[in-house]
Amino acid sequence: MIGWKTNIVFLATEVLEIHRGASKEEVRQAYRKAALSNHPDKVAEEERPAAEIKFKAVQEAYEILYDEDKRHIYDTHGMSAFNGSGEPGMGGMGGGPDLDDLLAQMFGGMGGMGGMPGMGGMGGMPGMGGMGGMPGGKPRTSPNEEQDYEISLEDMYKGKTVKFASTKNIICSLCDGRGGKEKAKPKKCSTCDGQGVREVLKNMGQFITRATQPCSTCNGEGQFYSPKDKCKKCKGNKIVEAKKMLEMYIAPGARDGEKIVLEGEADQVPGQEHGDIIFRLVQDEHPVFERGGADLRAEINVTLAEALTGFHRVVLKHLDGRGIEIKHSPGTVLQPGQVLTIRGEGMPIKRSDSRGDLYLVVNVVFPEGSWKPTPEVLAKLQEVLPKPEAPIEAAPVDEVEYDPHGNMEEFGARDTNGGSAWQDDEEEDDEPVQCAPQ
Ligand SMILES: [Zn+2]
Ligand SMILES: [Zn+2]
Repeated sequence: MIGWKTNIVFLATEVLEIHRGASKEEVRQAYRKAALSNHPDKVAEEERPAAEIKFKAVQEAYEILYDEDKRHIYDTHGMSAFNGSGEPGMGGMGGGPDLDDLLAQMFGGMGGMGGMPGMGGMGGMPGMGGMGGMPGGKPRTSPNEEQDYEISLEDMYKGKTVKFASTKNIICSLCDGRGGKEKAKPKKCSTCDGQGVREVLKNMGQFITRATQPCSTCNGEGQFYSPKDKCKKCKGNKIVEAKKMLEMYIAPGARDGEKIVLEGEADQVPGQEHGDIIFRLVQDEHPVFERGGADLRAEINVTLAEALTGFHRVVLKHLDGRGIEIKHSPGTVLQPGQVLTIRGEGMPIKRSDSRGDLYLVVNVVFPEGSWKPTPEVLAKLQEVLPKPEAPIEAAPVDEVEYDPHGNMEEFGARDTNGGSAWQDDEEEDDEPVQCAPQ
């Protein structure tokens, strides 16, 4: 099942059984009522585990809806902003079973996760109407709509709310998805005798086989409304197109490939649970940062002088625009490829206040070839910089010519090309002899 664990969204308003626009006073009263009726001490022994969970859900719903800031987040981003099981520190059943799992069992069927195991004995929850998907029956769900959403690393770092208009099929409100006028009765389809399917004879090469196919007269429904009885709004289609503004909340620290589920926002199909719109995050490649889990990696350029004498400056612009300043004390040489690890400057980690680490790989930038210091400066450098290692003892010694702009792509290339221009044929002919065992 797709990401259901992060998608256990029991709407706070549903837990407290209030409407979305409820006032603070209404929230408070609903909380008192729900907390009283679900208090673990007030129920029978065998109902206690379930009551504890419901009680916690009620508390969390209250904390979200009563607090003005959290209420605003809830109203704009929905329950997904709270990670389903609440903020850090709110889960934790004291060594008991995982809260998410229990919630999944209790509210099974939401978010398209039917058929959870071990759901027996959890039934009979008070005031849980409308949550659907209790044991035994996996509700039919209209198809989910999945699509990729490209996102920059900056937005994954900072988090993002994406608003977009969605045109989708919704169940016709005039006829409630029946397709006919209020008092009209659908007529049984005579073509298929109300079966919705027709048996047809199919010619399969030299065989004739029987096959069933949906009846085209009634669209496979076995019945239809006569033209005068059809709903005026949807013209008997049961669904109408509607435009809706949707919001997708991408939490800071979101990962490549992560799925964001907008529950029940897919096209509606009469008689079925509403499917979800699912966005799969696809991270754009970043020119500076590379991501590994919650850690980030970047290269920083340091001049030769800085590598030798130290520096104190901004070396990198972070994903949120902050300058990352480093003070590297004089007197400690930075080596090319040296790695500076900055704890806690990586990506945010979801569901926590901590962050990954930032790994800076030092790239020492040497002076350009055109750098022309005076003989005095060179002499000074020679004097102050470490001396070369002991001379290599060898005899005889050949002083050779060299090309200062060699190209490693030429390395070994003569073999596959069968010889280059400046290699003469005689040498090539000699090769097999050289390779032969002696
Ligand atoms: Zn029919
Ligand atoms: Zn209608």
